[in-house]
Amino acid sequence: MTRRLTGFQPTGNLHLGNLIGAMRPLVAAQDRPSIAMIADLHSLTMEHDPARVRDNTLTVATVLLAAGVDPGRTAIIAQSQIPEHTELHYLLECATGYGEAARMIQFKEKSQGNTSVRLSLLTYPVLMAADILVHDTGQVPVGDDQSQHLELARTIATRFNARYGKTFTVPEGIRPESASRIMDLADPSRKMSKSSPSAAGRIGLLDPPETIRKVIARAVTDTAGVVRHDRDNQPGVTNLLEILRACSDREPGEFTSYGALKREVTEAVEAVLTPVRARYAELSEDPSHVRKILAEGKAWVQPRAAETVRRAREAIGLLN
Ligand code: ATP
Ligand code: MG
Repeated sequence: MTRRLTGFQPTGNLHLGNLIGAMRPLVAAQDRPSIAMIADLHSLTMEHDPARVRDNTLTVATVLLAAGVDPGRTAIIAQSQIPEHTELHYLLECATGYGEAARMIQFKEKSQGNTSVRLSLLTYPVLMAADILVHDTGQVPVGDDQSQHLELARTIATRFNARYGKTFTVPEGIRPESASRIMDLADPSRKMSKSSPSAAGRIGLLDPPETIRKVIARAVTDTAGVVRHDRDNQPGVTNLLEILRACSDREPGEFTSYGALKREVTEAVEAVLTPVRARYAELSEDPSHVRKILAEGKAWVQPRAAETVRRAREAIGLLN
């Protein structure tokens, strides 16, 4: 069965969007081989705080476990602990045009107005291609923000195979259903995001219930006054309905007011997050356990990664 890879940047503030859009699908698909990768190297492409990266990496691993990712079935890995990622990255750079990388929308957006753009921000999509290809990944769940990068990974893999002989599996992007894109509660035109400077519209997975209640109570709605699923005209209300549907696993009923809707959303979110928080607290008592899980994940996937790199080295003309 084809392997899946899902990545999480250790940029802190894991939120309900990450849980609904990425962790739950991962848990639901645990009968297939999957890898959950904490993309610590990717988080170095922008201004970063060294101590926070390490902490956040462990936090993300802990939250994955708390959310039900079973390390016996899904390999949980920290990207930088498997050096084959970076070794393959270099080989792939030699099969990628400068123009191809510079054309990436995310590079343009994140470098704009930034006076000290790191070179790694430009080459980030090539490292992402290496992340995918090194594990012989067949399927990558991607949202809109990553679809251009996945296309580049496919282009690089296809080109490398054509030039140097069949080396890589060409990965396919699988789209999460639109319902799984959770929007920011304070600005429903943007997706909920870890790196968004404002926490006003974010439901943090580890936030205290009182904070979450306030964020939902202040969620932007509209002046229509009726609760309708209408993404174009009532994006805030629609987002709340989507959250409710995802958190209660059934179609939302009728609501006579926005207040009633928000109360039900708050309850449903609490019901989902309470066990995650409890499990997280338990796991946090023994940080060495999480480090051990990462070491096991590494031991599990590294042989295949090493074999892929060996093939790529051979194909491109290096001594093995
Ligand atoms: P950052 O702002 O640092 O990029 P992020 O919130 O976008 O953080 P990522 O680490 O980039 O989170 O993504 C982790 C996973 O969560 C990915 O699979 C991504 O598609 C998914 N994801 C991120 N944001 C949302 C969202 N708002 N709704 C649904 N899924 C999301
Ligand atoms: Mg992101």
